[in-house]
Amino acid sequence: TEKLLQVKNLKKYFNVSRKDVLKAVDGVTFDVYKGETLGLVGESGCGKSTTGRTIIRLYDPTEGEVIFDGQDVGGKLNRNEKKNLSKRMQMIFQDPYASLNPRMMVKDIIAEGIDIHHLAKSPKERIERVYEMLETVGLNREHANRYPHEFSGGQRQRIGIARALAVDPDFIIADEPISALDVSIQAQVVNLMQELQEKQGLTYLFIAHDLSMVKHISDRVGVMYLGNMAELASSDDVYGHPLHPYTQSLLSAIPVADPKIERTRERIILEGDVPSPIDPPSGCRFRTRCPFAMDICAKVRPKWHEAEKNHWVACHLHDEEIKTENV
Ligand code: SF4
Ligand code: MG
Repeated sequence: TEKLLQVKNLKKYFNVSRKDVLKAVDGVTFDVYKGETLGLVGESGCGKSTTGRTIIRLYDPTEGEVIFDGQDVGGKLNRNEKKNLSKRMQMIFQDPYASLNPRMMVKDIIAEGIDIHHLAKSPKERIERVYEMLETVGLNREHANRYPHEFSGGQRQRIGIARALAVDPDFIIADEPISALDVSIQAQVVNLMQELQEKQGLTYLFIAHDLSMVKHISDRVGVMYLGNMAELASSDDVYGHPLHPYTQSLLSAIPVADPKIERTRERIILEGDVPSPIDPPSGCRFRTRCPFAMDICAKVRPKWHEAEKNHWVACHLHDEEIKTENV
């Protein structure tokens, strides 16, 4: 499978005061393959949204590389280059109400990208494209002249999806697209996204705060902790055979629906809170909460490496070199 996106050692720092730097994303490396859904999971403040926003250049990277379809899009980009990127990469936001301008009619919200990229040759073509998008996401043309507040949360997220798809992108970054929706609506939006992916050959980076949300949509899953990537593998491996203690703790916190199914994993309860990304722990960032922390974990940052085939992890427990040194 071909790589659509390659992210290498990406960093995004924010100066929060004269002396404090918030290391929101601090060296993450991963690929996204054409046509797949990569779930990106972690607690709030772990840097998952910042990762998405830096890839799509809502933020400029502090360091690192972003290669999209063979092109370097992580460096200095002028306005035109950013515009071109936005034709191929689009974002769907968490709060479908806050992300839709309340004073704009739905047709103009959806046509924003069509206008920016001059994709319609006439007003007629423009409105036809809007109607087509509305129907694509399960709404209809009568909705075109209404305002966002006239819609339910689920419908508003459909409008957000229509807006993103209107420019015919290849890659969608969905930042917690279902977190703000009622549970009964979440599956509908996920199903719609999956249908659209199949029909239009889309690639998704699907950001969520817990593993259960991305289970059914992701081909692979990446788990972030405090600005770092902890683990990344196929969904089967992440859910069935997690290597990183953090992933294991997240999974052991998910309640098992059927009481007859016994837990095969030992329950790991994490103590303490996530430390501040302004002053993160030395070595492994997870060490202050890790039940398996060793001396080396405070001294050396664990290497991001492929511990098993297509299974990436950053943990000394799974680093062969460290293991042999410690024997
Ligand atoms: Fe725990 Fe050490 Fe692995 Fe970090 S490197 S997850 S502290 S065992
Ligand atoms: Mg977020």
